[in-house]
Amino acid sequence: MTGLSLDSPIEGLGAGWARRSLPALRSLGIETVEDLLHHYPRRYIDRSNVTKIGQLRINQEATFIGTVRKVKLAYTRHRKPMVTVTVWDGSYIYLSWFNQAWPARRFREGQEIAVSGKVGAFRGSLRVQNPAVEVLKGGEADHVHTGRIVPVHPATEGTSTGVIRRLVHDALRRIDEIPDPIPTELLERHALSPLDSSLRDVHFPEEDAAWRRALDRLKFDELFFLELGVAFRKHRVEAETEGIAHDLSPGVADRFVEALPFEPTDAQRRAIAEVAEDMAASKPMNRLLQGDVGSGKTVVALYACLVAVQSGHQAAIMAPTEVLAQQHGRTVFSLLAPVGVRAVGPADAREQADLFSDGGSGPGPSVALLTASVTGKERERIYAAVTDGEVDILVGTHALVQEAVEFADLSLAVVDEQHRFGLHQRIALKEKGAQPDVLIMTATPIPRTLALTYYGDLDVSILDEMPAGRQPVTTTAARTAQERRQAYDLVRRQVQAGRQAFVVTAAIDEGNRLEVKAAETEAKRLAEEVFPDLRVALLHGRMRPKEKDRVMESFRAGEKDLLISTTVIEVGVDVPNATVMLVENAERFGLAQLHQLRGRIGRGEHASHCILFDASDPDNEDARARIEAMISTTDGFVLADEDLRLRGEGTLFDIKQSGLPDLKLAKLAHDSDLVARARRDAFGLIDEDPDLERHPDLRAEMERRFADSIDWLFHS
Ligand code: ADP
Ligand code: MG
Repeated sequence: MTGLSLDSPIEGLGAGWARRSLPALRSLGIETVEDLLHHYPRRYIDRSNVTKIGQLRINQEATFIGTVRKVKLAYTRHRKPMVTVTVWDGSYIYLSWFNQAWPARRFREGQEIAVSGKVGAFRGSLRVQNPAVEVLKGGEADHVHTGRIVPVHPATEGTSTGVIRRLVHDALRRIDEIPDPIPTELLERHALSPLDSSLRDVHFPEEDAAWRRALDRLKFDELFFLELGVAFRKHRVEAETEGIAHDLSPGVADRFVEALPFEPTDAQRRAIAEVAEDMAASKPMNRLLQGDVGSGKTVVALYACLVAVQSGHQAAIMAPTEVLAQQHGRTVFSLLAPVGVRAVGPADAREQADLFSDGGSGPGPSVALLTASVTGKERERIYAAVTDGEVDILVGTHALVQEAVEFADLSLAVVDEQHRFGLHQRIALKEKGAQPDVLIMTATPIPRTLALTYYGDLDVSILDEMPAGRQPVTTTAARTAQERRQAYDLVRRQVQAGRQAFVVTAAIDEGNRLEVKAAETEAKRLAEEVFPDLRVALLHGRMRPKEKDRVMESFRAGEKDLLISTTVIEVGVDVPNATVMLVENAERFGLAQLHQLRGRIGRGEHASHCILFDASDPDNEDARARIEAMISTTDGFVLADEDLRLRGEGTLFDIKQSGLPDLKLAKLAHDSDLVARARRDAFGLIDEDPDLERHPDLRAEMERRFADSIDWLFHS
C-alpha cells in the first residue's frame, strides 16, 4: 500500500506491532505522518560497517550479516525461557536472549539476518546477548535497524525507539514525493537539498555528508518560515496608520519628568524621546523596552502612560504576578506623587496614594490597582470606574485582560513581560483598546540574535545604563568552611548596620518533592541553628500564596532581618534595604537564575554583596564557568551571551512560551549564518510581495505554522 501523504494519520502505518504504541506517540504530539517525520533522531548509531564473523573481537560493538543455522528455546531451572540462535557466514557465532521467548518464534533456519551488538565470549565461543536483529527480506536496502547508520528517536513510555524507527521507515517508504514549500530558486541560491530527500536523509542517512546537507536544509526551513512570519507581521504593523496620534504639548508627562526626585539617566532620556516620537505618530507604537533589573524602566513606562492621559485617553500596565503588580502599584504611586496622583479603589490603596501624595500641582492622574486580592464590591467599583473613564491608569495582573474589564478609551498598553507572557496575553491586552500603542518591558537580557527574531517585529529601546549613585554589587564564591563562616559573619554585620539579607536554598526542580523537602530542611536549620539571634522570615514552597505575600510584606517593611527562601524569590521583588544575597548550592543554578537572584540586591544606596556557595566538584567545568562569569560581570547582556555560549540555546528566554513556531533543529545562537540568510530572504520576499499574493503556497504554509499565533501574525 502506498499513497501516504503528510497529513495521513499515523494509524495507517506499520502493522499490529505498532498499534499498542499509538497512545504513546500521541502523547509525544505525533498524530500525522508529518508529525512523525518531524520527530527527529536524537542521535545515530553507525552500524554501517559490516564485519565478517571470523574477524570479530571480544568487546567489539559490531554489525555482521549471516544465515540462521539453528534456533533453540530452553528453560532454566527457574523456568525462565532462554533462546539461542546460531548464525553462520563461514564462521559461527551465537546470539542469546534470556527471559524472552519471542526470538524463538521470530527467527527460522535459513533466514538471512543482520545483527548488531557487543561481542562477548561464553564457554570458548563468541556470543552476543540481546542483539538488535533485522531479518533481511527485501535485500540490503531495506535494513531498518542494522547494517546502516541507525537513527535513535526520542521515545517515551509505551513505545520504543525501535518501533518509532520502523514507523518512520515505513512512512518514508510509502509516502509519495514530499512537496517542497520553499521555491526552487531560493533552494538553488543557498544550495539546499529538496525537502523530500532531506527528510529521508535526516532519518536514515547513508553517510555523514548527506546527513549534514539534510540538517542544513531542515534548519533553514524552520528559520525561513519563522522569519517570514516576523517579516509578514512587521510589514502589516508598519503599514498600519490608524493609531492614535498623542498630544505632546507641555503637560503632566513633562511635569512628571521634571519633578522626578532624581536625574534620569541618558538611556532613560533616550528611551523617553523614542517613546514620545512613536506615540505622537498616527501609526500604533510597537516598542520593546529592554533593560536589566533596576535600570529604571518604570519611569519610561509612566512617562508613556502620562502622555496617554494628557491626550485624554487611558493607559494600562500589566504585570506577570500578583506580587509584581502590587509592587508596580507602589512604584507608580510614589513616582507620581509629585504630580498629585489619586487612587481609585479600596481604602488602603487610597491611603497609600495619600501617603505618597504631597498635594502636587494641579489635578493629577487617577490610578487603580486591579489584582486577584481586590474582590466583591471593590472590584465592581473599579470595573465601573475603568468603564466610565474615571480611572486614567489601571495597574494589575492578567486580571486586566478578563472580560469584565472594559476601558472607556485605552490608548496605551504597557506589558511588563519579565519573560513570562507570550504573544497571547500581549494581544489580549491590546484588544482592550481600539488601536492602542503597545510598550513591552523586559528585564531579560536577550542576545541580539534572539531579539532580532523573537522581537523582530518590534522597535527596541535599550536601557543600558544604571542610575547614578547606585552602589556596586560585589560577587564572591564560597567553597570552604572558613569562607562559609565569613559569609555568615557578613550577614550579621550587615544586619547590625540596619540592612537585610536574603538566603536562597531553593530546590532547583520544584516538581521534585525530595529536593523541595531537603531545601526546606536546610532553610529551617539555618533559621534555628545558624541565625537564632536574628529575626528570620521563612518562605517555602508549601505555603499558600496569601501567606507568602504576608511574609514578603513583613520583610519589605523591615520587620525581619533575614529572608530564607526555598522558592526562587519573585523576579523583580524590590527591597532596597536588602544588601546581601547568599545562594546555597549555586553550582546547581543556571546563569539566568543566578543573575535574577543577584538582581534582588544592589537596589538601594548601600553597597551590596552576593555570595555564591559552590559545592561543585572541581572538575565540573560548566558550574565553575557560570560562577566565574557571575564574579566577573554584573552586565546582564554579557551574561546572556555567556549563557548562550555555555548552554547552546537561550535559557534566559523561554522560546516555547513565546507562542511562535518551535525550532526543533535550528539554534539561533549557533546557526547565525543560516539565520542571517533566512532573514534576508524572508524580508526580501515580503518587500516584493507583502501579502504573499504571488506566493500562495508559501503563505498557506506560513499560516499553517503560525496557527497557534495567527492573530499575532495578522496583527489583527
Ligand atoms: P526596573 O523596572 O527597570 O527594574 P525600576 O523602574 O523599578 O527598575 O527602578 C528601580 C528603582 O530605581 C526605583 O526605585 C526607581 O525609582 C529608581 N530609579 C529609576 N530611575 C532612576 C534614576 N535615573 N536615578 C535614580 N534612581 C532611579
Ligand atoms: Mg520594575
